[in-house]
Amino acid sequence: MSRGSQSLSVLVVAGTRPEIIKLVPVVQALANAGSMRVRFCHSGQHEELGQGVLDAAGIVPDERLMRPVAPDIGALVAGLTTSIGAALDRQRPRAVVVQGDTATALAGAMAAFHRQIPVAHVEAGLRSGHIGRPWPEEGYRRMVSRIAHWHFAPTRAAAQALVAEGIDEPFVDHVGNTVIDALYWALGRIDADDTLGADIAPLLARAGKRPIVLATVHRRELAEGDLRAIAEGLRALVAREKVELVMPLHPRAENEVLRDLLGRVPRIHVVEPLGYFAFLRLMRASRLIVSDSGGVQEEATALGRSLLVLRSETERPEAVMTGTARLVGADPALLLDEAQAALARPAPGPSHVFGDGQAAERIASRLARDLLAREMALTA
Ligand code: UDP
Repeated sequence: MSRGSQSLSVLVVAGTRPEIIKLVPVVQALANAGSMRVRFCHSGQHEELGQGVLDAAGIVPDERLMRPVAPDIGALVAGLTTSIGAALDRQRPRAVVVQGDTATALAGAMAAFHRQIPVAHVEAGLRSGHIGRPWPEEGYRRMVSRIAHWHFAPTRAAAQALVAEGIDEPFVDHVGNTVIDALYWALGRIDADDTLGADIAPLLARAGKRPIVLATVHRRELAEGDLRAIAEGLRALVAREKVELVMPLHPRAENEVLRDLLGRVPRIHVVEPLGYFAFLRLMRASRLIVSDSGGVQEEATALGRSLLVLRSETERPEAVMTGTARLVGADPALLLDEAQAALARPAPGPSHVFGDGQAAERIASRLARDLLAREMALTA
């Protein structure tokens, strides 16, 4: 990743699976813009989860950092701030791009802030309205908003939330969510190459004609009781309906309780995290999706798949407004009722409410314009 002028160098920082997926299109668009030199820093937060996407996109990190040894999430942010800061000192970019609400996003923004490097925040302005839900994401994204220079909002509501919080309107751009750019890119790749993500094929074949239900669970704030309640709802669903349920388990240790409760139930498949391409093949094949993931809410809406959100509120209300999603919290009876109702009605149609696939291009052209103007002002 190194076309364009050194003086217009941009460092894109990512470390978790969702950030990597959502920033691949931004790296590609910045490189295609031609005028900027693009560098990619992998913070190491998820060491392996996003690697398949980077490989498929041909992105080799210019900085590949070690995951800091940290006993808790606060220490992780501290360690990442130090390691990303050292990468900034080596790369000396004119702008830093971070995405979303992870420890890497907050640490990347803080490291840049302390070096007076302007920060571009991709997927800015999502708000659940509750500082503890999702935790720590709601806090992290609000903190990044306080120090970012450019705010690239995925939805109109997110842009409005930023302006209402006092962010200068000319620095808030409603561009759409780059997850949709990534989705269209990945579907194009899958359709052109049968081998990409083909490891999911045996599971899909095993389902035969039975409808597939896809479930993902990973929120940190879920207590063991919540996980047990969700497992109870899923077991009841499989007992009542002739469906095949696939749950790629997030590597967070607490989630092992789901493997214990669901791992040996007939027609439930608890599997390791899937590569992005396999996961998208599975989403496309699914009749119903049950998830607490942010990215999955956006992808399910774009694909037109029925979705139950395992939360009591969402910072992505558009998924509910389009008729794609229902909120079921961690209530097993509600989960069962809503799942049966969703299986009985036709699937919702695909929606563009989260973006049209051009978000990354809009981000790249805004950054190119502003960085060039800044450069000309400095050299005038
Ligand atoms: N995903 C994946 N493999 C999986 C589960 C999810 O590639 O086994 C992708 C999914 O397509 C989406 C992203 O990971 O783009 C969502 O990540 P996650 O749910 O971990 O985080 P969130 O979106 O809630 O921040």
